[in-house]
Amino acid sequence: MPRLSTGKLVIATHNAGKLKEIQALLAPYGVECLSAGALGLPEPAETGTTFIENALIKAQAAAQVAQLPALADDSGLCVEALGGAPGVYTADWAEADVFEGGPGRDWYMAMGKVEGKLAELGPDTPRDCHFACVLALAWPNGQHTVYEGRAPGTLTWPPRGKLGFGYDPVFIPVGDTRTFAELDPAEKHAISHRADAFAKLVADQFS
Ligand code: IMP
Repeated sequence: MPRLSTGKLVIATHNAGKLKEIQALLAPYGVECLSAGALGLPEPAETGTTFIENALIKAQAAAQVAQLPALADDSGLCVEALGGAPGVYTADWAEADVFEGGPGRDWYMAMGKVEGKLAELGPDTPRDCHFACVLALAWPNGQHTVYEGRAPGTLTWPPRGKLGFGYDPVFIPVGDTRTFAELDPAEKHAISHRADAFAKLVADQFS
């Protein structure tokens, strides 16, 4: 399996926030990050049924078109009592026809949907869950490798905290009493699923 060296790496995301976060994480290793958006690469449909499949679809499509190594991530919330849902459909559960005047993502509604499904299962239903993050690294010759990160926790209701994004206000990481949305961003980044996956990538690629 080839290893990343100092040189160009395509970050297969059209999300500016993710690009910035990944650039900062890889800067100490001399990697020059190029964004899929800036290179005009198409955004493939995420048709996989697992985080690994979706991350690989994005990384392999970018590596093929750019003829450079490419890195993609896929992430979501998995609730054990719901059989791992919403899982790869985490963002879809927030899709709303009308949100702030037009179609968009309504995270409060999505958190309520998770809570409603848990309530249907009864008051004693375990509230264990985890955030998952898969990083896929693909080379133009078809070789690839994946790194899986996890942040285990429990769900609380009602949502608490104003920091973070997505489902952060209902997620309490193991070992804390605060939600991700009540943690300082640096504290969250030290224990997040993304940090876990990146630690594995860095240990494998740069040690
Ligand atoms: P994707 O990886 O861009 O497909 O995003 C999946 C969805 O998972 C996001 O839209 C978020 O709602 C959710 N998600 C992923 N990571 C986090 C996190 O750290 N906090 C809260 N929600 C997250």
